[in-house]
Amino acid sequence: MAIIKAVRGTRDLLPRDTTLWNHVEATARSVFARYGFGEIRTPLFEATELFARSVGEETDIVSKEMYTWEDRGRAESDRGQSLTLRPENTAGVVRAYIEHGMAESGMLEKLFYIGPQFRRERPQRGRYRQFWQIGAEVLGPPWSGSDSALRDAEVLEMLATLLDELGVKGWRLALNSVGSAEDRQRYSAALREALAPVKHLMCEDNQRRAETNPLRVLDSKDPNDQKVIDDLPKIADFLDEDSRTHFEQVKAALEACGVPYTVDPRLVRGLDYYTRTTFEFTVPDGSGLGTQNALLGGGRYDGLSEMLGGPRAPGIGFAIGEDRLILTLQAQAEEREQKKLDAFIAPMGVAQNPGALKLAQDLRRGGLTVEVGDGNFRLKKSFEAADKLARRMVIFGEDEASSGVLTVKDFAKGEQTKVPQAELVAALKLQSQEGSDQPPKRSNLDLLIEAGVISSDYSTEQDSKVLEKLSSTEVESLIRIHNTLKTEKNFSDRRLGLEINL
Ligand code: AMP
Repeated sequence: MAIIKAVRGTRDLLPRDTTLWNHVEATARSVFARYGFGEIRTPLFEATELFARSVGEETDIVSKEMYTWEDRGRAESDRGQSLTLRPENTAGVVRAYIEHGMAESGMLEKLFYIGPQFRRERPQRGRYRQFWQIGAEVLGPPWSGSDSALRDAEVLEMLATLLDELGVKGWRLALNSVGSAEDRQRYSAALREALAPVKHLMCEDNQRRAETNPLRVLDSKDPNDQKVIDDLPKIADFLDEDSRTHFEQVKAALEACGVPYTVDPRLVRGLDYYTRTTFEFTVPDGSGLGTQNALLGGGRYDGLSEMLGGPRAPGIGFAIGEDRLILTLQAQAEEREQKKLDAFIAPMGVAQNPGALKLAQDLRRGGLTVEVGDGNFRLKKSFEAADKLARRMVIFGEDEASSGVLTVKDFAKGEQTKVPQAELVAALKLQSQEGSDQPPKRSNLDLLIEAGVISSDYSTEQDSKVLEKLSSTEVESLIRIHNTLKTEKNFSDRRLGLEINL
């Protein structure tokens, strides 16, 4: 009988995964606590109207990505209504803020959440249909200081602290201001006008967006459309005096805290509720996210509470893609692993110490990174130290010293080879070039996607795990078979690679 698998775009997190997830969540909780945030948990599903009104009918999220259904009433008193699995959590938090009269305290509310969100997107690495977000919102009546630029800078500084504490390397903060709701409206109108004569030059999606939600055109990654986009008017020229001052204050406070940023005039973020500050943190290519390099995003939403029928309550918030954060940490840890020393020399007795030091001197002078153990170490201790520090261990015992032939153990390959001492520098250098000194190895998944054997739209985490087990020869033959079949029979099966082999 066919087995039942997890639904496309969803995945199981097993104990080997959840250790890191729990560490990330615990770190986030501890950082949030230091900044005075309390946890909020809102329902996984809400009235569809909540998202239509806040996120906006014309956004991709609401127009095509939501899991929505008509919920049948079970009794007269229990009317049927349209419900939706939450695609994001800000709308739910603001709904709860209004529903529980939190504004009445007159205080600033600082709330954080951790939980799954749902969007019917095309799954690929770093993009799932059920994904987790760690997010936070700061909101309150204007007299609580909720619209102050200081709040924006505090949230951004907190994110920088969190990413640094988690050890995320190379993050970049892109910042922009989309102005007040009125600025945005004027800008949208100007964009629509500027797009009218050129929109036919762009892809179909952008032609539609040019009409329905022209701000979204700026988000487009389509390389063919970049020329048109570069020539469009810039939001900075549409900001009123107050928005401009607000943005300057955010930047000044970030500079005072030493948080680096770049202003990206195209960062408008498509959700309808954003006003003034918008931001995104990205990680460099090769951080495990493929094309999905946005780690988190957020912005200010001064009119959202009113859009949902609540009191005036300006606010700012963000959502971190937890799945992407985890992928980044895993990829960066692997990279660090690869940056191990070239060799650890293990003398097998105190008498071998001077010879081992001499050998280290030769290797270091030959340009290799080397650590030397101590002849007092037992073999097990040398082994543990070597495995932690270096990619290879060079065993230097009495036999090796007298024969001049050394034993080299390669940890990654699990191989042990004999190398004459005179050839050691050259041999270790060659092995290093085969390893981390080379550009990072392309994953099998990437190679197969590039060759058209499988489609990036359909590749899943499970596929990736299975595919990475294939040798490079197997990958090559899959590509060859695919190309032959394609030309011979016009064959195009997105899962060819998986079905043939697995
Ligand atoms: P958004 O709510 O669209 O502003 O997204 C905030 C962050 O959530 C993004 O920067 C991503 O890191 C993450 N994210 C959004 N959509 C997905 C998805 N389908 N799968 C995984 N992460 C996502």
